[in-house]
Amino acid sequence: MTITHVLGYPRIGADRELKKATEAYWQGKIERKTLEAEGRELRRRHWADQRAAGLDLVTVGDFAFYDQVLNVSTLLGAVPDRFDAEDELARGEVDLDTAFRMARGRAPSGEPAAACEMTKYFDTNYHYLVPELHPGQRFRLASTRLFDEVAEARAQGHAVKVALTGPLTWLWLGKARGEGIEAFDRLSLLDEVLEVYGQVLARLAEQDVEWVQLDEPALVQDLPADWKQAFERAYHRLQAAPVKLLLATYFGGLGDNLSLAVSLPVAGLHLDAVRSPEQVEAVVDRLLPHKVLSLGVIDGRNIWRADLAALRDWLAPLAARLGERLWLAPSCSLLHVPVDLDAEPEFDSELDAELKNWLAFARQKLDETVTLAHAVDDRLTAGDEARLAEAGAALAARRRSPRIHRPAVTERLAAVSAADSQRASPYDRRAQAQRRRLDLPLFPTTSIGSFPQTAEIRAARRAHKSGELPTADYEARMAAEIEGVVAHQEALGLDMLVHGEAERNDMVEYFGERLDGFAFTRFGWVQSYGSRCVKPPILFGDVARPAPMTVGWSRYAQSLTDRPMKGMLTGPVTILQWSFVRDDQPRATTCRQIALALRDEVADLEAAGITAIQIDEPALREGLPLRQAEWQDYLDWAVECFRLSAAVADDATQIHTHMCYSEFNDIIGAIAALDADVITIETSRSDMELLDAFRDFAYPNEIGPGVYDIHSPNLPEVDWMVALMDKAAERIPVERLWVNPDCGLKTRGWAEVEPALANMVEAARQLRQRH
Ligand code: GLN
Ligand code: ZN
Repeated sequence: MTITHVLGYPRIGADRELKKATEAYWQGKIERKTLEAEGRELRRRHWADQRAAGLDLVTVGDFAFYDQVLNVSTLLGAVPDRFDAEDELARGEVDLDTAFRMARGRAPSGEPAAACEMTKYFDTNYHYLVPELHPGQRFRLASTRLFDEVAEARAQGHAVKVALTGPLTWLWLGKARGEGIEAFDRLSLLDEVLEVYGQVLARLAEQDVEWVQLDEPALVQDLPADWKQAFERAYHRLQAAPVKLLLATYFGGLGDNLSLAVSLPVAGLHLDAVRSPEQVEAVVDRLLPHKVLSLGVIDGRNIWRADLAALRDWLAPLAARLGERLWLAPSCSLLHVPVDLDAEPEFDSELDAELKNWLAFARQKLDETVTLAHAVDDRLTAGDEARLAEAGAALAARRRSPRIHRPAVTERLAAVSAADSQRASPYDRRAQAQRRRLDLPLFPTTSIGSFPQTAEIRAARRAHKSGELPTADYEARMAAEIEGVVAHQEALGLDMLVHGEAERNDMVEYFGERLDGFAFTRFGWVQSYGSRCVKPPILFGDVARPAPMTVGWSRYAQSLTDRPMKGMLTGPVTILQWSFVRDDQPRATTCRQIALALRDEVADLEAAGITAIQIDEPALREGLPLRQAEWQDYLDWAVECFRLSAAVADDATQIHTHMCYSEFNDIIGAIAALDADVITIETSRSDMELLDAFRDFAYPNEIGPGVYDIHSPNLPEVDWMVALMDKAAERIPVERLWVNPDCGLKTRGWAEVEPALANMVEAARQLRQRH
């Protein structure tokens, strides 16, 4: 019989119960014990869901009040000194508030301290808390939460498998901080870390846990030789533990780590058979005859219903070879998909019955996993039979649907030539034309696009959406908002203006709502970090632009001023990256379709008299594949897509782009290849050091290095911004420098924005005098 399980389940709750409870706790509205009770209730429900679906094991250890990597950090006692947790560590019980302080800098109890760094988990949009490491760091078992949760699940009568981030991936995700870190090797901490893992496994064994899943997605990345050796050393040591280890890999293929992973002395191996089905054969051929192979065949990163019949046909011969040793699961934790499709309302949702029929969220993926196992074992129930038939019919319909396949889009894409992604003239010629037309001073000032999204703006949008506020009234409010934003910028003396993006709920959603091929859910929330969730659009079909999307607002904004008004678009790669996208064609194809729709928008903006157009690509870097060998291919099509959007512009139309939280060293060639006339980037926190990459590359076009951090409420001083720009001028010729904030201002209030921009304009004035 094929065993079924999940690597992890969303913990946020179908109605975001966990978000609501943690935020209420942070605000002092509920007590600790109420929060703990909500956590217990969510765990109970999620285990019950797994059990009800018919999974053989329920997974314990995937729950977290904030982040599962942070959970392991507290389990190992890796709490930085500044959180003052000596007593808690000595007691072996790191307090929940200490964990919250590590995550957010503050909690209902304990002294505030600088929060730990947060960054994206592999190539997902989920953010984890970066473990802080330092030379000579000591570890000790410092939390009993995991064991308590195991006992809880046991008491509810479940067969339990524990899931935990593995020791190597935990170290891999960690970063050195503090003194003496130049020559510090994270692996020097491995033995100590393993000591505690050994204790954890022994405790779990005492609780009669048979299987422990150790997540080691680091194995799908390029590993230095010493890390590969460390895997061997670590797992040879852990094999003494009195539990069975399931080594879980996901988000890609094992590639050159395949032999290593197959040879590690563990009882089972989990593979991502969605991202990398081709590795399955090779692993099956080499797996020792006592080892379990867990195949992640249901996509844990996307929302499409699985092709169960095709999977059954593929798996049947493998099942014959592996017998009892075959396990089935989703490819990775279901943390990365929304909770329950059935929560979508029948009415008042964009997901009509047909579209809904093509999808599967976390709860539906449980059913898919179980049905598939039954199919492979030839023990289909009547319910399974129905589910298989339904899935088959839905898939066939999806393949043929005219909502998805638009011949005009395919034909247009086929006709795209290399010339289409090429501006008419090289940058130097364009720059001359733009200078003549725009007549900007040295160190021109601008902003990144959004101005404060005030409570009134959001209330108006809500009222409009619910039908209370008629469209004409809503638009009048937005127009008034734009007038205000333009007047403010003129009064401040900015050189290139923006309209402020008041009319946009979100920089991707706004465009998705105006393009064919996108749908939106009501409750399709996915945890992004801590209590924060996002609701990614579902890009289900060929993309087309039925009508201009931004032209009316930009034209109106430009009519209010003689200064140049930047048109403002979200780039094709970012729209792709922040949506759930089709699995029936390459991402590159989907991206090109978006690019062509944006290209039409650029042409229309230009025709409406807009002289500068910004195409934001903050997600360009995060689209990089996990393996370096695949970078170039990705960058080639990503850059091409951006250029396809932009290249329709005349020489005299200035194309801007914007990127935040990005490093540029290793992708500077691609950044230059975008050939944007101006790029604005987030640099203030790096003290302009990010510009080194541009200098070393002899980056040829204009750059606006952010001079102040918009994430901070602090007022940036004039001198400080001047000093930063002086540093910039050491790296980039002054005639190619712009002055702007790090990013958009939508999360700030006017009380902060006004004086900050006034200081920025003053800084530019002083710079002009000096240079
Ligand atoms: N134009 C967008 C804004 O100003 C850019 C946001 C971003 O870079 N994430 O809000
Ligand atoms: Zn930004």
